[in-house]
Amino acid sequence: MTERSSSKRYHCRFCQSPLRFTFVDLGMSPLCESYVSAEQLNQMEPFYPLHVYVCEQCLLVQLLEYVSPEHIFGGEYAYFSSYSDSWLQHAKAYTEMAIARFGLNHTSQVVEIASNDGYLLQYFVERQIPVLGVEPAINVAAVAVKKGVPTVVKFLGKDTARDLAGEGKQADLLLGNNVLAHVPEINDFVGGLKILLKPRGVITMEFPHLLRLVQGNQFDTIYHEHFSYLSFLAVEKIFSAHGLILFDVEEIPTHGGSLRIYARHHEDDSRPVEHRVAALHAQEARAGMDRLAFYSSFAETVKETKRKLLDFLIRVKQQGKTIVGYGAPGKGNTLLNYCGVRTDFLDYVVDRSTYKQGKFLPGTHIPIFPPEEIQATKPDYVLILPWNLKQEIMSQLAYIREWGGRFVVPIPEVEVAE
Ligand SMILES: [Zn+2]
Repeated sequence: MTERSSSKRYHCRFCQSPLRFTFVDLGMSPLCESYVSAEQLNQMEPFYPLHVYVCEQCLLVQLLEYVSPEHIFGGEYAYFSSYSDSWLQHAKAYTEMAIARFGLNHTSQVVEIASNDGYLLQYFVERQIPVLGVEPAINVAAVAVKKGVPTVVKFLGKDTARDLAGEGKQADLLLGNNVLAHVPEINDFVGGLKILLKPRGVITMEFPHLLRLVQGNQFDTIYHEHFSYLSFLAVEKIFSAHGLILFDVEEIPTHGGSLRIYARHHEDDSRPVEHRVAALHAQEARAGMDRLAFYSSFAETVKETKRKLLDFLIRVKQQGKTIVGYGAPGKGNTLLNYCGVRTDFLDYVVDRSTYKQGKFLPGTHIPIFPPEEIQATKPDYVLILPWNLKQEIMSQLAYIREWGGRFVVPIPEVEVAE
């Protein structure tokens, strides 16, 4: 573990302690959703540090705010949640669970933070339950409004929460999926949740679980949009500092292993703390997440993974074989930039998103083609970049076996699928 010599400038976004310990340093990387057009190929491209620290006081793992969220999420944003069928199913199942468990009806108010294109709130609308979306990306919010999901174009913080509460929009159910990790001002955000929640209301938040990231070596899920990498332990401290108690938690399979937490006001004694809270504490403690030493070994594992991937790619190229990539997700871009994998190894990648086709991956400038290119060029190996979807992709592309093609998965470490 390296100790920073000039620690004065960097402080923990939660407890303000100086950040001195590195969790992992992935070097310089472009914003992972900044796909490059043909005209931009000869222009300068901004790269920002992907250096992740762990706070020795509160053990929050965090990326400094190298890039502002307004720059990443505000204005136009390319990610529309409704493009993913499995994510829609997840949202629908959540809606049914929440309505049943919390007895929501036409007199309730549901508020979702980072509601995207209304992918989730639409299912509450179908059941005549009043909703409000809070979404900073104007183009994405416009799609939600068109679907009949009322949406305000805002980032959530204490100011926005006070305004909404003043308009009578305090929530019985306040939810946010994959937003807690994305906010640099985490105290202002959680403080805003406290203000926006009715006295007996419930908050649910989903975020990738840091324990799964470490155990599964998922370092490619680190990118500039993800400001914090969250353990239950750290989230509990942050919520508690804002007068909110976590009374339940579930482990769910999304994004390589996530947590769904349930929170209420400290003063609300109507919901007892469930036994799953203690069980998750115990699980994190057994793994050692309550001690700084847990966080120190990750960086070396990541370096070793890079060496093994490069070793594999070099051997394959020396045999005169061809490799292409499947998928152009954010996580692929972290992996390829960190490992320095360009068209010297991967001829191209394919992606089903027509938005990405014809463009180039940020930083590595690998061209993105439609999936049919694989059938046309018959590569020897297909490297699956969204490894969390490998089963789905391997069955979609089963035809590559006709010419002896093989699948390769890079995470947790490089492996040729049998
Ligand atoms: Zn801290």
